[in-house]
Amino acid sequence: MKEDLYCVVDIGGTKILLLLMDDAGNILFREKRATPKPEEPDAIIGVISELLTEANMKNGYRPEKKPKAIGVCIAGFLDQQKGLVYQSPNLHWNETVPFVQIMSEQLNCPVFIENDANAAVVGEVFYGAARGHNNAIYVTISTGIGGGLFLDGRLYRGHSGFAGEIGHIKPFGKGRTCNCGGHDCLERWASGTGIELSAKTIWPEDKVSPARLDARWVFEEADKGNTLAKNIVDQTMEITGMGLANLVNLFNPSCIVIGGGVAGNRNNYVNGIAEVIKKEAIRPSVEITPLEIVPAQLEPDAGLWGMYVILTGRLEE
Ligand SMILES: [Zn+2]
Repeated sequence: MKEDLYCVVDIGGTKILLLLMDDAGNILFREKRATPKPEEPDAIIGVISELLTEANMKNGYRPEKKPKAIGVCIAGFLDQQKGLVYQSPNLHWNETVPFVQIMSEQLNCPVFIENDANAAVVGEVFYGAARGHNNAIYVTISTGIGGGLFLDGRLYRGHSGFAGEIGHIKPFGKGRTCNCGGHDCLERWASGTGIELSAKTIWPEDKVSPARLDARWVFEEADKGNTLAKNIVDQTMEITGMGLANLVNLFNPSCIVIGGGVAGNRNNYVNGIAEVIKKEAIRPSVEITPLEIVPAQLEPDAGLWGMYVILTGRLEE
């Protein structure tokens, strides 16, 4: 085992996942905890600190031995260079949090942050479904829709770090306000939440209990042959494919990786989206040069592997 240790953390709305890794890529420790409520930065950092202590004890390290660096991926709008999280709807952070400063002071260790989907595209490119690709797009379809762009061999963050917000391209459908303040964003129609909203317009409360009316139920009903449910699935597949076809025309990727709880483990759904992309995108991008459209491979660890790549200095900036 080599000397340097790296700690990578994924802070999600429901759980915090932490890995301790060595510089040969071995996972020495893996543990998750529920995200504290309310999601105060200090409370979250406290959980990470406890997990790190546990990792050190379990591996027989001196408790004072620190990882060389800690990499944290967070769902939200953040500036990785300044170390600021401007907004994280999942964590209910609406004011800017100087996360890197707070955490590096409390844990006395260098800290790096990255948007979770940005980290995930890096993970999938270096270790997962997009290995070897220089131009890859990652999209995660769960309660929302997130995306990461890996272009010309680099993570593309945009001017302020907010690039790749595939979930908020528009318009798709009509009449739904989005959490971002916009209208009819892709994720209002094609995420798990979007599918649920569509289902609730079709099945009244006295027919199906609202607690059961989620995306999973819609997919199950569609599989059983329920025509209305199948229509919703077909519609979301169509608009997701349309959204991604736009990205293909803009960025000409050689690989699109599709993950997330709604789509990631449903191969038929991914294949359906792929068919729409191939029908709608410009022919040279999907036929003359090959475009792979594949399910994610590293879930739920894609972001953690991406942070590991970043901490070990292998991401070209
Ligand atoms: Zn939006």
